Amino acid sequence: MEVFYSSTRDKNNRVTASKAILQGLSNEGGLFVPDHIPELDIELSDLAKMDYKQIALEVMKRFLTDFTEEELKNCIDNAYDEKFDTDVIAPLVEAEGAYYLELFHGATIAFKDMALSILPHLMITAAKKNNIKNEIVILTATSGDTGKAALAGFAGVKGTKIIVFYPKNGVSPIQEKQMVTQTGDNTFVVGIHGNFDDAQTGVKKIFGDEALKKEMDEKGYQFSSANSINIGRLVPQICYYVYSYAHLLKENRIEEGDAINVVVPTGNFGNILAAYYAKNMGLPIAKLICASNENKVLYDFFKTGYYDKNREFKLTTSPSMDILISSNLERLIYHIAGNDDSKDRELMADLSGKGIYRISDEMKDKLEDFYGNYATEEETALEINRVYRSCGYVLDTHTAVASSVYQKYLKETKDNTVTVIASTASPFKFTRSVMTAIDPAYEKLGDFELVDELSKIGNVKVPKAIDEIRTAPVVHDNQCDVDKMKDTVKSFLGI
Ligand SMILES: *Cc1c(COP(=O)(O)O)cnc(C)c1O
Repeated sequence: MEVFYSSTRDKNNRVTASKAILQGLSNEGGLFVPDHIPELDIELSDLAKMDYKQIALEVMKRFLTDFTEEELKNCIDNAYDEKFDTDVIAPLVEAEGAYYLELFHGATIAFKDMALSILPHLMITAAKKNNIKNEIVILTATSGDTGKAALAGFAGVKGTKIIVFYPKNGVSPIQEKQMVTQTGDNTFVVGIHGNFDDAQTGVKKIFGDEALKKEMDEKGYQFSSANSINIGRLVPQICYYVYSYAHLLKENRIEEGDAINVVVPTGNFGNILAAYYAKNMGLPIAKLICASNENKVLYDFFKTGYYDKNREFKLTTSPSMDILISSNLERLIYHIAGNDDSKDRELMADLSGKGIYRISDEMKDKLEDFYGNYATEEETALEINRVYRSCGYVLDTHTAVASSVYQKYLKETKDNTVTVIASTASPFKFTRSVMTAIDPAYEKLGDFELVDELSKIGNVKVPKAIDEIRTAPVVHDNQCDVDKMKDTVKSFLGI
């Protein structure tokens, strides 16, 4: 059965998968959601015999139904190739009684590579299918990792340009260096004087600007989004949860049909929503454990049913989770309201007007598979230290938030279900925070000295992505104020 995608804010706005990917955000500002979740109608024992790419095909062909199998296979082959430093693509590492699903073996050593290495291929294929002649301009707001992963994915891809906005003082030095050294004539990188929410709000405003859209069209351009609001980001993320299950089954760590728990360090709610979709396809997942850092809007939401962004924005050592408006939560809201677009519209209007909304008790009851908690800065550092001291495995700060929350969950529930923890970044990406958590004496070392030291104590090779930026020249030095984002876009495009 074909899956169509409708807007969370207008059910009648219903498009094919390829159109939803091209468009990113729907016209009234809603997000595209599948009108039904396809069933994973294949034996788990058969999945256990497949490799990552084969499993990805099984998942993606059920969601992206207007793509042919040939097209999807082609996209998958172009994405999950030697850009990854392991054929396995997403290794599961057993440590401390849980399985860390390492999603950081791609070009930019963070989990966003899992989706962003395939998105450009899905997008070009979608453009071809829909006879699009315009050049596609990818506009992205990033809290650090999306930016580089999107730049790496789209750089040099014909028929596309990519513009990335990041908070000038809100990303790690290595994240910034990764972005500003990006080569490729079709890439533009800008630091804004504001935080990630400012960047994201600014990008959403540009997407909603009808006059600009018309002007762009006349000049042969159209916008699309590589942010995690694009369903072309979300669907590839479902694959690794299915892969995890299949792998655990293959390795006899679980029996067919056993449930597993997943723990996800969460920011924009894309990664954990993918796990929710995997569960709703029929993958045996029991608890979806949502881990936040000190920006714990989601923890409060799961506890109280109130989503309240009116609070201080905190810069933490897990910057990719420093988010007060978790965009993808809107999709969950729509689903738990019974696919009700008017309810979604009402709540989102409350969010943009008052900064707060409350879900009904009936909706809250549908969240029982979720467990939310958070880790403070101190707890995050302690978790990195604890895991390293006990088994030598080095966690990055985001993964440590998840790991710390998992420990809290265990203490509270004594639930001994086999658990997969999404490991979203390589520790090499957040070296200073990671190393000083292991020993404060590392504070005095320089950034790249820390890299070498981490390689030594963790007994892991320095990833190629880090080696490359040691000497790469800075090629982007643009900055702008939040209210100048649109002008900046226009000047890049020469319109
Ligand atoms: C983006 C990111 C997250 C948060 O993922 P969401 O899908 O936005 O919830 C967590 N960890 C890292 C390292 C990230 O880059």
